[in-house]
Amino acid sequence: MKDGLTGKSIFRKDYEPYPWDVKQLHLFFDIGRETTTVRAEMQFHLKDGFKPSQAIVLNGKDLELLSVSLNDRPLGEGDFVVNGEALLIPDAPPISVLKTEVRIHPANNSALEGLYVSGEFLLTQCEAQGFRKITWFPDRPDVMTAYCVTMQADRSEFPVLLSNGNRVAAGELPGGRHWVRWEDPFRKPSYLFALVAGDLAMVEDHFKTRSGRDVVLRIYVEAENLDRCDHAMQSLVHAMRWDEDRFNLEYDLDIYHIVATNDFNMGAMENKSLNIFNSKYVLARPDTATDADYQGIEGVIGHEYFHNWTGNRVTCRDWFELTLKEGLTVFRDEEFSADMQSRAVNRIRVIRDLRSRQFPEDDGPMSHPIRPDHYVEINNFYTATVYQKGAAIIRMVHTLLGESGFQKGMKLYFERHDGQAVTCDDFMAAMADANGVNLDRFGRWYSQSGTPQVHVSDRYDAATRKYTLTLQQKTPPTHEQADKQALVIPFAVGLLTGAGGELPTQLETGTDVLEGTRLLVMEDEMQEYTFVNVPEKPVPSLFRDYSAPVRIFYDYSPAQLATLITHDSDAFVRWDAAQRMAVSAILELCKRSVNGLEMTLDAALLKAFQGMLADRAADPALLAEAMNLPEEDYLAEQMEVVDVDGIHAARKFIQRGLAGNLMVHFAQRYAELNDGQAYQKSSAAMARRALKNTCLGYLVETGLGESMAVAQLASSDNMTDTLAALKGLLQMDSPQAATALAEFESRWKADALVMDKWFSIQAVQPGPNTLNRVKELMQHPAFSIQNPNKVRSLIGVFAMLNPTGFHAADGSGYAFHADRVIELDGLNPQIAARMAAAFNRWKRYDEGRKSLMKSQLQRIAAVEGLSGDVSEIVNNALR
Ligand SMILES: [Zn+2]
Repeated sequence: MKDGLTGKSIFRKDYEPYPWDVKQLHLFFDIGRETTTVRAEMQFHLKDGFKPSQAIVLNGKDLELLSVSLNDRPLGEGDFVVNGEALLIPDAPPISVLKTEVRIHPANNSALEGLYVSGEFLLTQCEAQGFRKITWFPDRPDVMTAYCVTMQADRSEFPVLLSNGNRVAAGELPGGRHWVRWEDPFRKPSYLFALVAGDLAMVEDHFKTRSGRDVVLRIYVEAENLDRCDHAMQSLVHAMRWDEDRFNLEYDLDIYHIVATNDFNMGAMENKSLNIFNSKYVLARPDTATDADYQGIEGVIGHEYFHNWTGNRVTCRDWFELTLKEGLTVFRDEEFSADMQSRAVNRIRVIRDLRSRQFPEDDGPMSHPIRPDHYVEINNFYTATVYQKGAAIIRMVHTLLGESGFQKGMKLYFERHDGQAVTCDDFMAAMADANGVNLDRFGRWYSQSGTPQVHVSDRYDAATRKYTLTLQQKTPPTHEQADKQALVIPFAVGLLTGAGGELPTQLETGTDVLEGTRLLVMEDEMQEYTFVNVPEKPVPSLFRDYSAPVRIFYDYSPAQLATLITHDSDAFVRWDAAQRMAVSAILELCKRSVNGLEMTLDAALLKAFQGMLADRAADPALLAEAMNLPEEDYLAEQMEVVDVDGIHAARKFIQRGLAGNLMVHFAQRYAELNDGQAYQKSSAAMARRALKNTCLGYLVETGLGESMAVAQLASSDNMTDTLAALKGLLQMDSPQAATALAEFESRWKADALVMDKWFSIQAVQPGPNTLNRVKELMQHPAFSIQNPNKVRSLIGVFAMLNPTGFHAADGSGYAFHADRVIELDGLNPQIAARMAAAFNRWKRYDEGRKSLMKSQLQRIAAVEGLSGDVSEIVNNALR
């Protein structure tokens, strides 16, 4: 519940169980685009342990109430109370049948929550609290019930009528109308309800589960997209097989439906047996989708499918527990992608994402533990913290217990809680009990916000051949939580000789000698580990596989970093060493230019790049990751006061310097990889394209680049190569860029997803001209401010990924963006709030920019009737 501008917080500690068991819910929809009527019949049984004469409380929002009856007695005014989003019937009998009828208006629903229109069809989005925009109901995840849904509609306009579960009956009605009934045998919370009605085409496949059940798989899309569903279908089959093999979890219904829509606030939604997807995560053909799109589709299809167990069969008690289903399911989809593709490359992408999106959140005005203690608008808590950090914390549990211990815990979790709405504590208890360990102290990760810092120092004694690592952990205070406790931190470590050989390790306190990685567990604020029989001062390889989501501080010398980049056995450590070297070189240049000194190219970095370019043994995708310079927003996070232009200039100088000095090497590697072979979808082919296009990204900084990019554009048979070449021409400001953009536009103007890319590559261009270009593009026929994908790809990309544009010193970027936030708030508060978050880091900039951003935040905060969504974000930022 929220009350206008101020927004009232809801607290986790205030949880109270719902007094009623809802035995059944019958829904009757009379479907129309402009007006839909919804009749609901609910059976309420008072739960044991509650005193009689309880009130029944339902939630509803923007509903036109036509009638209410209780046990077949119509209720009039005075029999019930409507207060904000609550409808309360006092003193209800212990067994009550409640019937309501409401009218709603899908075509006017621009917030894309509840029932709304997308192109030729109607669909629903209910998580977190969209169901209350469909009908009056106790709209909270701990109220689970059996759904029976009957829909009737005009047959020609709405030939397809879908809901959750099994289709049990259907028939014709007079006047060209028809009806369909769906029953879901699994009790579920309202946020998992879904309905789709309209004119959709479909592809079908089958899956045989390990126990022999035949499952019909269908993907529904608009007819022109039928040839873009193959990859999504394959990904679904792989996900179903993988969940059986790795987690011993089998699908539980006879049908599994996916529906793709262009109008969606999120990525996708795991409604029981009727997933609804942003079309970005379904549709792919080599000429329209990049390798990253293909990988994204596989990951998101997996994610939503895996929710069937971790989310649907066992759900959350309340929304504070969101990470129970999301952290766990993200961990599962990360493991799925890692098993399907290159584990190392997947891991690095996950870590890069965590550091660039979640760390700033942990350090900003919206910091919160993965299980928050309070919120104003739950939609604002679908965050990188709940999802990505939540997954990192599950990964630590996996690291501590090992695969078989973790699976034992999962098994017990399902034995105990199948069909229930539970908490993170229940999950941790299952993990602990199944393994006979105590995880109470580890549980602090659930209640503490902020990114822990681990400072590592070392000393070597040649006489005793002892090497000691001292670790100190400290979590800086966050805006909502001053005091921090020591956390349990898994610390995976290896020791290398200066020449790069891996040393066996033996602790002073133990007798075992380990070849390779040793897992230590830090529990206190400070801990020392002494290794014996160490023949020389080693190079420490710290936090292998990023064994904990922490900031690691160790004073590496350039020579040590070079050893790790070339020789370490752990992909994360190799990548991280290359990133560290690049970060320190770029930040050093920033300092030099502030002090009026000339910029010079870091010799160690140059040598490291030369080594990587010559490495024919390493996975090309891994090399591409290591040679991609840290992004400007990540670099900004490493500075006390962000120097927007300095970072951009220094990064560009290094990119150019590396390109110029190593041009021959880049060109040679590019030529080897650009072998003219036809497109393939394999992981190996994707890895080769990744490195090839990384090389091209450097080569366009040299005299060779333009002709290479033009040739690649002309011969490309896939979107990855096309987009990389086009970006290259834009990056070098080539005279050919305008023509290439125009040709791309004329070829793809009718294709919503491809046009998103066209918007993005223009919005991300650095420099003062981009803001005007973005304004022009908002008038383009393919753009619509009502469509979240368009908003994200043009306005979102400009604000979040174009620092020199957004942070232009005159404040023009800020003013433009604040106008968009205000405009969007009237249409779609969820998306408006996401966009408003671009101002969250305002306090980290220079005085001029700070005051410009602050005044825009104040301007937004002062808007009359501002949504709770945006109000929570901007008021937190201003606090
Ligand atoms: Zn999810």
